[in-house]
Amino acid sequence: MSLNVPSHASQFLRSRVANVCVAIAGTTSAEVIEKATVAVKETPFLEIRLDYLEKPLLALPRFKQFFADNTAATAIATCRRSANGGKFAGSLAAELEVLTKCAAVGFHMVDLELESAEALKKADLQKLRETGIGLLISHHDFNGTHDLDGIFTRINAFHPDFVKVVSTAKSLIDNLTLIHFLERMNDNSNLIGICMGDAGIISRVLGVRAGSAFTFAAATVGEETGPGQIAARTLLETYRIDQVDAATKVYGVAGNPIRSSLSPIMMNTAFRRETVNAVYLALQTNKLSDLLKLVHDIPIQGISVTMPLKQEIMSHLERTDPLSARIGACNTVLRAQDGKLYGFNTDVAGITGPLEKRMPLAGARVLVLGAGGAARAAVFGLREKGANVFILNRTAETAQKLARQSGSKTIRKEALAKSSFDAIINATPVGMAGNKAAPLLEAKDLNTKLVFDLVYNPLETPLIHLARQLSVPFITGIEMFVHQGARQFEIWTGKPAPEEEMFRVVLHALRQQAEAATAEAAESKPEAKSRPSAKPVVKPAAKPKAAPKPKPAAKSPAKPAAKPKSVAKLKPAARSKPSAKPAGKKSAVKAKK
Ligand code: NAP
Repeated sequence: MSLNVPSHASQFLRSRVANVCVAIAGTTSAEVIEKATVAVKETPFLEIRLDYLEKPLLALPRFKQFFADNTAATAIATCRRSANGGKFAGSLAAELEVLTKCAAVGFHMVDLELESAEALKKADLQKLRETGIGLLISHHDFNGTHDLDGIFTRINAFHPDFVKVVSTAKSLIDNLTLIHFLERMNDNSNLIGICMGDAGIISRVLGVRAGSAFTFAAATVGEETGPGQIAARTLLETYRIDQVDAATKVYGVAGNPIRSSLSPIMMNTAFRRETVNAVYLALQTNKLSDLLKLVHDIPIQGISVTMPLKQEIMSHLERTDPLSARIGACNTVLRAQDGKLYGFNTDVAGITGPLEKRMPLAGARVLVLGAGGAARAAVFGLREKGANVFILNRTAETAQKLARQSGSKTIRKEALAKSSFDAIINATPVGMAGNKAAPLLEAKDLNTKLVFDLVYNPLETPLIHLARQLSVPFITGIEMFVHQGARQFEIWTGKPAPEEEMFRVVLHALRQQAEAATAEAAESKPEAKSRPSAKPVVKPAAKPKAAPKPKPAAKSPAKPAAKPKSVAKLKPAARSKPSAKPAGKKSAVKAKK
């Protein structure tokens, strides 16, 4: 199926549009123009959401000067009515009046909803077209991904310059439906396809590669105009959408919830740093069958597996390393060239690696709090290194079972004050942001040379705070997070991971999250609400402060990691040399001897 031969206007527009169109919204024209002026410096292709303005018709003349000052800008005007998912409360006639006046102001294209196009008289639509402005006709399905071909046919009947088909990803599979649709239509260049929603991130990054003329992005984090929209800078710098091509290998983190996962920023930074032509996506799902289909169809070369899929995926793997098998969980999957899946557990190295940098583990006495997934990785990893492990868990039976399986001992809370350890590891969610449970340990229980809290958000958990107060050296959960991610990178690429850079970017992201949470809490206080906001209208986009200039990304396929040793021997591939100093040198003090 193909679109009509593009008109001159289409060809002209096609030559002006970039991969990413930044959606700009605000409640006053001054605010919109201010935001557009900032955005256009980085991304000259904009969508101006006129429907967010109270009186779009009155605001229009103000855009004339913007276009005179920004001749490189290419802009779509959207005045979507509320019935079709927009914010414009006016009638169809009022919408048409706004859009018809857009050409005279300097807009290059208007976005008209399919429902409006179908309701308009032919003559009225003709009047709009006679203004010479480009016409994009869009359809948004907020309930799912249904009959994309049928919607395409309905839109195409109007012979617009661009056809925009937007659905909602209710599952990962909906992305596949959209990607296959775009691939089928790949003999035309004027089709845009996107899946909205948290599960639709894949379509926003891989859609352009599959044939979408462009995709939409938010101006900054927090300014999204559609569910699941990604900030322009994230799309361009983290996901490197301009460089995603047929040779780009796809990786991802799968589980639920996944939206706030720091894995994409960490792993994409590592790929960029090491000039690996690869992209790493957030794959939100509870359903393993959906994930496996995606791995097969896209295909996906490697997955970081998180809750709730870590155990369930085990029976779908060709082979696993012996520790994953004993733990009963795998957090890393490698897809070999023959499509077979191999499993590893890098959580183990994420725990034993940082500890070994500070103390020998053979013969060490280590207390593990918890008996869930992370605790199992800790216990089996430590036992393999020859440590004497003591387990304390809320549910005593689970602790006893793990102790039996691993050759460890259990311990009661009351015995802690009279015991001493080389290390205490918290492998429970207690202390995590949003977790209201009381601290598990008091000062009298901290008879240890080192504390390792696997929780990494907040940066300073109550347990780390207590350790700091008592001058007990500690390791934060970021170190585990980065270490397990670095081992995944090495398994997938066969290259040493840029661990310090990964650590830096995760730390920065967590600090930003903490700052945003503090600001939000301050703003929600009643007295702050009554004060006029001193915040500038335009939020600076999130960017690591001292980001070293990235090496240019590999355009051609990165040299395929010669079949990683990890596949052949089922051992993680060659590791990077551990840095002399621990990665978290500021927060983690060397353990006392
Ligand atoms: P999990 O499988 O759900 O296990 C949770 C464990 O914590 C269970 O043993 C549970 O005890 C215990 N627990 C839960 N709430 C508790 C409470 N209020 N008081 C006492 N014990 C409680 O979770 P997981 O995958 O092991 O993860 C545990 C934590 O480790 C996560 O929350 C995360 O912060 C951290 N983690 C960090 C990394 C990293 O890279 N830094 C990686 C993985 C995990 P019961 O048996 O009684 O339910």
